[in-house]
Amino acid sequence: DLTDPVLASEAELAFEGALRPKSLGEFVGQTRVRGQLQLLLTAATLQQRTPDHILLAGPPGLGKTTLAMIVAHEGGRPLRMSSGPAIQHAGDLAAILSSLVPGEVLFIDEIHRMARSAEEMLYLAMEDFRIDIMVGKGAGATSVPLDLSPFTLVGATTRAGLLPNPLRDRFGFTAHLEFYDEAELEQVLARAGTMLGLDADKEALAEIAGRCRGTPRIANRLLRRVRDYALVHGERADLAAVRAALELYDVDPLGLDRLDRAVMEMILTRFGGGPVGLNTLAVSVGEEAETIEAVVEPFLVRIGLITRTPRGRMATPAAWRHFGLAAHAPDTA
Ligand code: ADP
Repeated sequence: DLTDPVLASEAELAFEGALRPKSLGEFVGQTRVRGQLQLLLTAATLQQRTPDHILLAGPPGLGKTTLAMIVAHEGGRPLRMSSGPAIQHAGDLAAILSSLVPGEVLFIDEIHRMARSAEEMLYLAMEDFRIDIMVGKGAGATSVPLDLSPFTLVGATTRAGLLPNPLRDRFGFTAHLEFYDEAELEQVLARAGTMLGLDADKEALAEIAGRCRGTPRIANRLLRRVRDYALVHGERADLAAVRAALELYDVDPLGLDRLDRAVMEMILTRFGGGPVGLNTLAVSVGEEAETIEAVVEPFLVRIGLITRTPRGRMATPAAWRHFGLAAHAPDTA
């Protein structure tokens, strides 16, 4: 499923890697975050120390991994990549931390999914570049302090709210990444098009930009599908080719993917427009509540199809119209 930010083939991943901007200057959009990061990195360089720990929060595909790589690259520092799900014991983290070289950047993706015991080890590591290692078992167990090389932790999470406060507080800087606007997405697409050697019209790129959920990763994937379509049909990547390719892949004019639509249809038809609670909604569409909350909902809120109320999620009048159900909308919608 090409619109699924989680599933991706090897080829898609390789393509994604090749397209990653290598410097802050090449990174499109997120102007505020870029400025903040630039300041933080430059200050660290001037003071000849490792930059503060950085937390990157936001939905998948907005550039968190890319920014972590840039932080390492701009400072000429080595980068170690790991992820929360790969750190299921404190020992997993101890092994990583104790092998870091001075100044290394440690990227932990999905940091909110790390084991609790590892999280506690990380507090001390982040604050004092030190950990306590337990040696032995039972009554004879002792803790041995171990000094670490100074490092910069870059954590990424789709939900900053899921992180315990003591962990969140230990990051010197938290960046909240926003969905990209269409002009920015066109820049992402133009850059990727050039790298793909694709001869695409400006209006073709604009059409893709409007249908990629404000997300560069999806923009690049759709561009690849359009490239395939143009290649197979021996056509230029023009507006008609874009429309045909996107229709084939079931990407609607607002860029909603299958899960977005399932969620909307559930709210509209089964729950009469809401309000409906997150967990009820998740169970109804057979998805994890975390995915609905971190991936689906932010975009639906951003384009004005749902609102969050204390009693649950509600469809807006625009949602009833988009799904051609305006006649069924309750008076309150
Ligand atoms: P995340 O870690 O937030 O899921 P990634 O950093 O893996 O997202 O980005 C996904 C893809 O989108 C990468 O291939 C990258 O090339 C592209 N991308 C993300 N942000 C930008 C950006 N600001 N400018 C250009 N390309 C971007």
